[in-house]
Amino acid sequence: MLDRLKNEYKAVMFGRNGMDSLNRALLALAAIVAALQFLFTLISGRAGGMYAAAAGLVAVAVFRFFSRNTYKRGAENMMFSQFWMGLKQRRAASKANRAPNPYRQNPYRQQPAKGKKDASGNKDAQRRTKIVTCQKCGQKLRVPKGKGKIRVFCKNCGEAFEAKS
Ligand SMILES: [Zn+2]
Repeated sequence: MLDRLKNEYKAVMFGRNGMDSLNRALLALAAIVAALQFLFTLISGRAGGMYAAAAGLVAVAVFRFFSRNTYKRGAENMMFSQFWMGLKQRRAASKANRAPNPYRQNPYRQQPAKGKKDASGNKDAQRRTKIVTCQKCGQKLRVPKGKGKIRVFCKNCGEAFEAKS
């Protein structure tokens, strides 16, 4: 029964865009807008147009979900992910600027050499990176190692997902 449903879902979704980062963001934004409208009506007793705006956002997400133009949807998703990652990086950068830099504090402490070969012959860069597979398109991506849970941005389809490093 569940298998049949799964197969039918697969058949319906074949060649379609499905869920991606942009759709998740659209649905989250729709939920926020609807919640704001709910609060606004609760406080002021007046209706507003924000439910319509939320419905519009959901409609866009549904359209993108079932769209067969995966090329265009992928490009949209990529643009959105780049914009989102840019925002996050800017926030992280301003945080990092506030945190003390250990190398600046102690000039005698050496920064790790880049691209130097270790005893096993592996390049330094290779030891400190790892390969993860994109959850959406299967693209292999190189990410820094030992940074805990990180946000990975697929250069192929634009999907953003979390991975252990
Ligand atoms: Zn991908």
